[in-house]
Amino acid sequence: MKMLRYQVSGLVGAPIGSRMVLSLDEGPGDLGDQVQVDYLKGEIELVRSDCRLLASGVISTQIRIPCARCLEPVLFPMSFEFEEAFHLSPVDIPGEAFYAVTHDGYLFLTAPLREHILLNTPLRVLCRPGCRGLCPECGHNLNEGKCECINEPDPRWTVLPSAQLFK
Ligand SMILES: [Zn+2]
Ligand SMILES: [Zn+2]
Repeated sequence: MKMLRYQVSGLVGAPIGSRMVLSLDEGPGDLGDQVQVDYLKGEIELVRSDCRLLASGVISTQIRIPCARCLEPVLFPMSFEFEEAFHLSPVDIPGEAFYAVTHDGYLFLTAPLREHILLNTPLRVLCRPGCRGLCPECGHNLNEGKCECINEPDPRWTVLPSAQLFK
């Protein structure tokens, strides 16, 4: 799994209101939870508040999502606003998940970025508007031509508004 780790101890020790910008320019990697990115780019501004670092910025990335019909990977570029707060010292808020800066002054962005990416990932994408999917008998990718099986077209596919699902 890719470690997105940034040293921020200078900001942790700075007065309230101090700022710092992290420039992200990361290559391909695995963020866990089946989130594979081709790249991660953007800038995240960190502001020191009294007990937290407040992070905000815009991140661009590209992931691969299996086509809902034929399972071929579909390239899906996205851009999203990143906002997160990182506590400066361990706190225990029952029932609340939060991120914290490590005691030696590191900020880990892997999990919060993964969450933002998952929130921005559509549940269903198609590789092309009229993807023919896989043969239910032999698994052949019908976009590459017919197989030997004799199939009736699946009636569910004819009623789905495929143009709207394709993004
Ligand atoms: Zn497809
Ligand atoms: Zn077949």
